[in-house]
Amino acid sequence: MTIVRDKIFIGGQWVAPQGSGFIDVIDPSDASIYARVPEGAPADAEAAIAAARDAFDGWSRASPVERADCLERIAEGFRARSDDLALAIAHEVGMPLKLAARVQVGGPLGSWRHYAQLAREFEWEARVGNSLVVREPVGVVGAITPWNFPLNQITLKVAPALAAGCTVVLKPSEVAPINAFILAEIIAEAGVPAGVFNLVTGYGPVVGEVLASDPRVDMVSFTGSTRAGKRVAELAAATVKKVALELGGKSASVVLDDADLAAAVKGTVSNCLLNSGQTCSAQTRMIVPRAKLDDAARLAAAAASSFRVGPALAEDSRLGPLVSAAQRDRVVGYIRRGVGEGARVVAGGADAAPAGEGFFVAPTVLVVDDAKATIAQEEVFGPVLVILPHDGDDDAVAIANDSIYGLGGGVWAGSDEHGLAVARRIRTGQVDVNGAPWNPLAPFGGYRQSGLGRENGVYGLEEFLEYKAIQLRAG
Ligand code: NAD
Repeated sequence: MTIVRDKIFIGGQWVAPQGSGFIDVIDPSDASIYARVPEGAPADAEAAIAAARDAFDGWSRASPVERADCLERIAEGFRARSDDLALAIAHEVGMPLKLAARVQVGGPLGSWRHYAQLAREFEWEARVGNSLVVREPVGVVGAITPWNFPLNQITLKVAPALAAGCTVVLKPSEVAPINAFILAEIIAEAGVPAGVFNLVTGYGPVVGEVLASDPRVDMVSFTGSTRAGKRVAELAAATVKKVALELGGKSASVVLDDADLAAAVKGTVSNCLLNSGQTCSAQTRMIVPRAKLDDAARLAAAAASSFRVGPALAEDSRLGPLVSAAQRDRVVGYIRRGVGEGARVVAGGADAAPAGEGFFVAPTVLVVDDAKATIAQEEVFGPVLVILPHDGDDDAVAIANDSIYGLGGGVWAGSDEHGLAVARRIRTGQVDVNGAPWNPLAPFGGYRQSGLGRENGVYGLEEFLEYKAIQLRAG
């Protein structure tokens, strides 16, 4: 049965939107209509901004401990609704349910707890000579988020913004919005004051652009494509808003000559295929020693082919579908173009998807000679790994850095020292040495066209704070 949500959350109330349309949310595992949500109008965004503005004075002056208490209650409500959240995301995004529960819900739960604790422990002011330097909330935040890790991206904006004392208007992705409705219910039940958090659904160029341009919004925090991020930054510039952008990527896994090739290939393939390749920091280019190209291709083909593709709710699925028919067509188009430009298919391919109504693409591995080829340069956002040859450390670093993006990456080497030395030369916001694990306290964000600013940990909290220096007379 289709879930229908016909209200948005403004000023502490579920209210009827002023826009009269609805947006269908499609389940990518079988192309059915999973849910319908309101297609918000500009007036809905404006009403939410007014509510957030009204709430700012009180919330920004609440003590960090009061804000921490609120965040803890949200974390508790979030834990209690974990199963609902995971099921919603499995239906909206198509990630296999068990994986969605761990990655898409478990991760954000940890972040809510972490920001509650940080609000208590953070050094909100310091003495510098005769100045008292205080950290104050930026103000009203417009948060615009994508569909691929929807609740994680929402949490990494809303939790630190609330901890900082900001008030928020959230516009979640129209592709995967149901998790945001559940979160709004959790926040409402946690006793957060009215207007501190507001939810408006709708399309980016309609609702999102109001958040980016309205002079009453002090900061816009955007995660999504580089194309839309540029538009948001352009609109925000007119009122000199603070802008945070988490955008696209084309991250490289650099495999050095002394690395354990089998471990490197296995680790890179798993990283690349997470969420069917729909991960902004996915390592989608594997750069290997030229003499080991064929071995790497054979190992990668075997690893990729071992991932079982299927619907999100099937027990044995390891890779779900792509999120939409449009995304599937785009990815298949990239594979065809890659082959047209000389890529050799060693696993999967444009026509290898399993049968079914869902938007499936087979995990695909392509060997590419030319690092300038479209498939080696543009973000595909699908289960596609490109293998490129290198002629030594310097060449590998040059290929890795030859990108308009700079988000993630990996280095595999015979020793961590060798890996670290090369990691220092990679121009990206994150680099994993020898498959080291994700750290939710470390800063996450991009160089170059991958974005501006950082999320996660204390770095994510500081994005939502201003500095104020208050000079005091001596004595
Ligand atoms: P998208 O840019 O199409 O949409 C993201 C959000 O922006 C949605 O809420 C959308 O409605 C809104 N939007 C679209 N046009 C807008 C406009 N003109 N003004 C204001 N808002 C607008 O991206 P997507 O397809 O949802 O997500 C995929 C992209 O996100 C990929 O490029 C991926 O790399 C990127 N991404 C980056 C990170 C990161 O942290 N760097 C994380 C996840 C996804």
